[in-house]
Amino acid sequence: MGTNIEVQVWAYSQAQSVLAIDAVFAEMEAVNQLMSPYIVSSQLAQVNAKAAEHPVVVDATLYRLISESIEFSKVSNGAFDITFASVGFKYDYQQHLKPDDDQIAASLEAINYQHIVLNEEDLSVYFNHPDVKIDLGGIAKGYAVDKSIEALQAMGIEHALVTAGGDTRLLGDRRGRPWLVGIRDPRNEEKQAVTIPLEDFAISTSGDYERFFEEDGTRYHHILSPKTGTSTYEVQSVSIIGPSSTVNDALSTSVFVMGVEAGISLINTLPDYEAIVLDSNRKLHFSMGLTQ
Ligand code: ADP
Ligand code: MG
Repeated sequence: MGTNIEVQVWAYSQAQSVLAIDAVFAEMEAVNQLMSPYIVSSQLAQVNAKAAEHPVVVDATLYRLISESIEFSKVSNGAFDITFASVGFKYDYQQHLKPDDDQIAASLEAINYQHIVLNEEDLSVYFNHPDVKIDLGGIAKGYAVDKSIEALQAMGIEHALVTAGGDTRLLGDRRGRPWLVGIRDPRNEEKQAVTIPLEDFAISTSGDYERFFEEDGTRYHHILSPKTGTSTYEVQSVSIIGPSSTVNDALSTSVFVMGVEAGISLINTLPDYEAIVLDSNRKLHFSMGLTQ
């Protein structure tokens, strides 16, 4: 999945721990094979190749995640939009490549979740605009973490930590103590900005440091505004704390694009979810549940 994966389990035997870790990697790989835009045979790649020509029938898992993503587009007022990829695929952060203004302008119209037409009857996906591409990078890792924790629970594991990139979920406590999850300083890999004790909960962080390059003093990073097709600069990192890693993941990307005020207002409407936002002046902001 192009990211670091960390698994810690407290198991009853060495054999069980090996099975548990294998189970997590199997879940991660299943998500990768289904949803990677870079694997030509993945269903997501097939959708991107064909869905503007005709409806493409997909796996129920992929269908549901696309459908959930559209719900997040609605609640975030369009900030979270998997069609960002219509422009997003023209960036290559490793190669330091970005689209020029004309290229962005030519594809910007294709960014709009309303171009995605879902058919619940046959689980098909259709794009009603020729240039639409989708990418689930803002939600798939959180989903893979949820699936991994469920797999561990099914095996009888009671204490575990699973992290994929910025998405972490904890099962139980760390044998009598809470798990300590850090939010790193966006400008210093070695330093934690905040450390949070958590049990049986999840946290996702979106940061402008995960994938980026700098050119002429500008940081081109991987979280894009669907309105402009360019990176957003109001915040450096957003962490969302809540029970579902899938939801945390989508919300962290949403709030990153929405910025401090609109983003925190959104989180304040969701009783189970809290936010910690570090703005571009390195000031911390918290949602209501963390300040009371
Ligand atoms: P990471 O854990 O990789 O930092 P994030 O949760 O921060 O992931 O999401 C960033 C990823 O989300 C990007 O790499 C891209 O795939 C995708 N993305 C970027 N902008 C948007 C957007 N406006 N809406 C939905 N997904 C986005
Ligand atoms: Mg995210």
